[in-house]
Amino acid sequence: MFGSSGIRGVANSEITPMFALDFGLAVGSLYPEVMIGHDPRVPGEMIEHAVVAGLLSAGSKVVKAGMVPTPTLAIASRDYGCGIMITASHNPARYIGMKVFKDGMSFDTRQQEEIEDILKNGSFSYAGWEKTGGLSTVNSALEEHSGSILRNVSSAGLKVVVDCGCGAASVLTPYILKEMGCEVITLNSQPDGRFPGREPEPVDETLGVLKNTVNATGADLGIAHDGDADRMMAVDDKGRFIGGDKMLAFFAAREAKKAIAVPVDTSRVIDDILDGVKISRTKVGDVYVAQELKKIGGEFGGEPSGAWIFPKISLCPDGIYAAARLVELVEKEGTFSKLLDSIPEYPVKRKAFPCQDKNTAMAKIAGELGKLGDVNTLDGVRVDLDDGWILVRPSGTEPKIRITVESANKCDELFNKASEIVRRAIP
Ligand code: MG
Repeated sequence: MFGSSGIRGVANSEITPMFALDFGLAVGSLYPEVMIGHDPRVPGEMIEHAVVAGLLSAGSKVVKAGMVPTPTLAIASRDYGCGIMITASHNPARYIGMKVFKDGMSFDTRQQEEIEDILKNGSFSYAGWEKTGGLSTVNSALEEHSGSILRNVSSAGLKVVVDCGCGAASVLTPYILKEMGCEVITLNSQPDGRFPGREPEPVDETLGVLKNTVNATGADLGIAHDGDADRMMAVDDKGRFIGGDKMLAFFAAREAKKAIAVPVDTSRVIDDILDGVKISRTKVGDVYVAQELKKIGGEFGGEPSGAWIFPKISLCPDGIYAAARLVELVEKEGTFSKLLDSIPEYPVKRKAFPCQDKNTAMAKIAGELGKLGDVNTLDGVRVDLDDGWILVRPSGTEPKIRITVESANKCDELFNKASEIVRRAIP
């Protein structure tokens, strides 16, 4: 049920109130105190109410945080046994889902399996009528989060365009940047679960208005969030969308001291610009990056998708702190585009191949790639070569095998080699 970032599906067909009720019962059977919040999605309150009914039925004490960003809920729920966020992150508006947190970090595999087992077996712990739970509301989660961010950044007098995508960041990022001293121009910063301004995923194709507005207003930079604000992507002062690998390298170069964690599909740029820093590579998914950071005590972790983790704030990716930190860094160091141009960028090629029997194909591919060099089989198969690397992964959700190739000067050659290996392995 749990994917790499919680449970997600189309509202009222895949994720129904009946499922949400069972989900609440399952979580409530294990956790006596739970904080719950939701992003602005239209079905959010419907699903939240069903989850709450399940939690109360199991006897949990439930505290509602209201409409908040995911990183805000993750931080505020540290005071309770468990936090549940009703969100579908960057998915289109028809989706809804749940992310679950303990101690500010996404549930690990073992914690997820405990919930799944109860759901599968229907082994819910119903409370006696006199022991059913109580419900209360707190209004301090946003203040707690913004307070912790503002204590950690210095003031900045930049002109910043913020595109919240009508998501949960609308209630925090513009206010925090203003508090820091910035001149803030907002786009799509009224929460609206239909996402009328743009699709919730902050990628180059969805951020045309942000890029144009940065250019038209002569802003120092632009900021964009996904629907629940655990992600942040940026546009420089020339109106250029900054790719995830470059953004990751930008933060890593400034945050890393001893150790960082990144997923296995991250660019080699990171290895080339960091000196004396241990780089741990993990499975793809921000929850794996967070788990590794906890284990190694790293200072920073991230995913090229726009999830940036700063353990001194929390182990949940925090797009809002990332925005404040980025603004602080640009204020201190000068023109954003110039800072970015000093980071190298290597050509990358990606392609997905349709494949029904992924396991058989992957076994053949692993054997072939093993002949080229040392392989890493953490998530799919990655082979590192002198002039680049190849990663072949089975898709977690679709009947497809994906290849990623990065090389400074032999990208086409390696890509053709990898494509040939994958094509031969698919029956
Ligand atoms: Mg998200």
